[in-house]
Amino acid sequence: MSVLPIHLLGSPVLREASAPVVEVTDAVRQLVDSMYETMDAAEGVGLAANQIGQAIRIAVVDAEGARIAMINPVIAEASGKAGEEEGCLSIPDVYAEVTRPERIVLEATGRDGKPYRLEADGLLARAIQHEIDHLDGILFLDRLSPLKRRLLVRKYRREHKEGESLLREVARPSGRTG
Ligand SMILES: [Zn+2]
Repeated sequence: MSVLPIHLLGSPVLREASAPVVEVTDAVRQLVDSMYETMDAAEGVGLAANQIGQAIRIAVVDAEGARIAMINPVIAEASGKAGEEEGCLSIPDVYAEVTRPERIVLEATGRDGKPYRLEADGLLARAIQHEIDHLDGILFLDRLSPLKRRLLVRKYRREHKEGESLLREVARPSGRTG
């Protein structure tokens, strides 16, 4: 397991549609474990494989007491509508209210290779949808109005100059408990 660098806005892999996982191998499980470790180190509620430079359909989420690995995830059902503020480990310091379905049913394969079904709402449903978007090359900025998106991208570009690395090294947390 290792904490992996996170790709930032502008890195082409964030715009790639990810390929399905054919089989849950040891390599897949190791990647899942490294993604958990990276998400924890970055203090995120979710992380998609694109964000660590691999366009394959794997993501992890840790929200509202649920800690899940999602391999080949799909939203089987969605209902309601809710707007809440979102951020993204690949777009540091940018936050905006995003409207998404409020309740979802997730179907995915777990780290153990077994398919599962999960009903979710609140932050968990939001995090799952945000990560699945990543696997389709979609960022939360794409879910905003064009005007709002332009403003936020401009703000981001002001703070992250051209030529700056598109990789963010995440420090392993030291002495963090819980
Ligand atoms: Zn994100």
